[in-house]
Amino acid sequence: NSAKLKGDNIAQYSEQHHAQEQSWLPIEEKIRKALEWDQFELHYQAKVDGQDHSIKGAEALIRLKDENGNHISPGRFIPVAEQTGLIIKIGQWVIEKGFRQAKAWDDQGDKIKLAINISARQFQDRNFLIHLQQQLSETQVNPALIELEITESLLMDNAEQSIFIMKQLKAMGFALAIDDFGTGYSSLAYLKRFPIDTLKVDQAFVRNLETDKDDQNIVRAIVSLGQHLNLEIVAEGVETSGQLSFLNTLNVNYIQGFLFSKPDVAEKLFES
Ligand code: C2E
Ligand code: MG
Ligand code: MG
Ligand code: MG
Repeated sequence: NSAKLKGDNIAQYSEQHHAQEQSWLPIEEKIRKALEWDQFELHYQAKVDGQDHSIKGAEALIRLKDENGNHISPGRFIPVAEQTGLIIKIGQWVIEKGFRQAKAWDDQGDKIKLAINISARQFQDRNFLIHLQQQLSETQVNPALIELEITESLLMDNAEQSIFIMKQLKAMGFALAIDDFGTGYSSLAYLKRFPIDTLKVDQAFVRNLETDKDDQNIVRAIVSLGQHLNLEIVAEGVETSGQLSFLNTLNVNYIQGFLFSKPDVAEKLFES
């Protein structure tokens, strides 16, 4: 009887799995083509100073369009890229493109720190550090102008290995941020040991900041924790002046969100 139950579960699982695989196929195909024909775009969203609202940094966000020119969100294609391993090539493309842009801003005299999202498989790839080193020498960008954003859940997945890799990234001169903080299963013991510079408060806590007392208290606690660990704090997903004023009372260092700017091509960064 239990064997039958188990069999059912397997049938159910593989059915789901199959459906998922099928829905991935067109996206996987699209990713391969985009890599081959250089169809990805990199957009940039400003991070502004919490006090004077001047632009202090930007986050690189990858963009992909389908054949009708409709935008396919990274929330959809990045997981497919992770699953298929294509994220390695995509990640390398983002680094190559991003480093060049950061170098160009620096040459123009714009004081911009560029944040680049790193996915799990990319972070754990044996060639990750080698490729970064290669691109540093090729572009001559100052690594202090590059901040690597790594999600909390990725770091906690294998925390000891994460620390080992992060230490090497710090030694290379990069700044490190924990992305989507508060949504992974953080351990404060590890947070203390991670050699990071910045905490990004997840937008899930920012969304209802004006009305939700629990979110207010969570954000207060996260910001205070970060400040006491000497970390810089970024709040992401800030859309309203009400959210902004709450964050200002906590002295959050940097604000990122549609209130100030939407992700767009590099040329538009200073226009909003
Ligand atoms: P993330 O790194 O947490 O990026 C922030 C996301 O919030 C971006 O979504 C951004 O467009 C969006 N956002 C910014 N301000 C606001 C706001 O005020 N309101 C709302 N509702 N959303 C806001 P996007 O560009 O769709 O990216 C989604 C996720 O995809 C990113 O989350 C990141 O995890 C991943 N991603 C994007 N680009 C890359 C990349 O180049 N490499 C990797 N590995 N992942 C990427
Ligand atoms: Mg990010
Ligand atoms: Mg984030
Ligand atoms: Mg996020």
